[in-house]
Amino acid sequence: MKDLIDRLEQDHSLSPEEFIALIDGRSPDVSSYLFERARSVRRRYYGNAVYIRGLIEFTNICRNDCYYCGIRRSNHFASRYRLTKDEILDCCRAGYQLGFRTFVLQGGEDPYFTDSLLCDIIAAIRQTYPDCAITLSIGEKSHASYAAYFNAGANRYLLRHETADPAHYGQLHPPTMSWEKRIQCLWDLRQIGYQVGTGFMVGSPGQTSHHLARDLQFISQLQPDMVGIGPFIAHHDTPFAGEASGTVELTLFLLGLLRLMLPYALLPATTALGTLDPSGREKGVLAGANVVMPNLSPMAVRTKYMLYDNKCSTGEEAAESRHLLDQRMHQIGYEVVTDRGDVAAK
Ligand code: SAM
Repeated sequence: MKDLIDRLEQDHSLSPEEFIALIDGRSPDVSSYLFERARSVRRRYYGNAVYIRGLIEFTNICRNDCYYCGIRRSNHFASRYRLTKDEILDCCRAGYQLGFRTFVLQGGEDPYFTDSLLCDIIAAIRQTYPDCAITLSIGEKSHASYAAYFNAGANRYLLRHETADPAHYGQLHPPTMSWEKRIQCLWDLRQIGYQVGTGFMVGSPGQTSHHLARDLQFISQLQPDMVGIGPFIAHHDTPFAGEASGTVELTLFLLGLLRLMLPYALLPATTALGTLDPSGREKGVLAGANVVMPNLSPMAVRTKYMLYDNKCSTGEEAAESRHLLDQRMHQIGYEVVTDRGDVAAK
């Protein structure tokens, strides 16, 4: 196992069979060796810096019906909202004062936000905060739409591929959604010039180590700038209500593998990790992550962006509690920095 880890660190890739052997054969001993190597690689590229992003969840209205997601169209119990341009700019103002230099606009695929409205919002943020990065996470759009947002001033785009296996994709999404379209979107984003993030849920229903090996292989091909992974957590008003959650343990192991595969990458310790384990963020950083994305949405809507049960938005998950996050990262030897936090040179 340790030989495989050493080889992954050296070559940045393994065969699918080797990934499967590592995932299935992992043990606490193997994990601690992996995390030690991951921290060493991370330190070489990013020192002990932890980058922060202010997450603005600007709409929970979505035309899609993903089986796992609490804001899916068919969840009639979700209390829906959308923020205005001014409310979004207020979030950025508060975030800037707290030291955030990246704003992530995330939302459901809400047709109210037309390309011209989105471009207007992006351009206003770009003009007001020329020193900040603007990240979008608003799902599948046409090449032309992605290009328009980029030209308006967006720099980065997060679109998880969710699973690299088309049949598994079909188990997680309704037939109206297509795996091919999702993957094409990622290549379009890359071609336009965005810093691109992808990722997947760990422990999503039906996922096996074979699927995970395919995910890692796909990520190795795409060479994204960012990879967001977090445990799947069931939402009680979705078709996956009764399904078991993914584990923190496997998520951390995969974070370690990703750090060795993509030494330069931006890897967030996600909210889902912090939701399942109060020390999830710290454990993520100690497994190789270098980004956290506290919530910068207005208080009144935070509990409405409920992708899964008990999703955290307080304590170190809250942007206004940055000092708590600073302290907790400091305690494990890391430093939260006020910086755009762009991807390191590959
Ligand atoms: N609509 C955009 C999109 O599809 O990329 C962005 C918002 S979407 C809610 C953001 C991410 O939340 C998804 O890519 C998915 O991986 C994650 N997510 C949704 N439901 C989840 C759940 N039940 N457990 C863990 N993560 C979940």
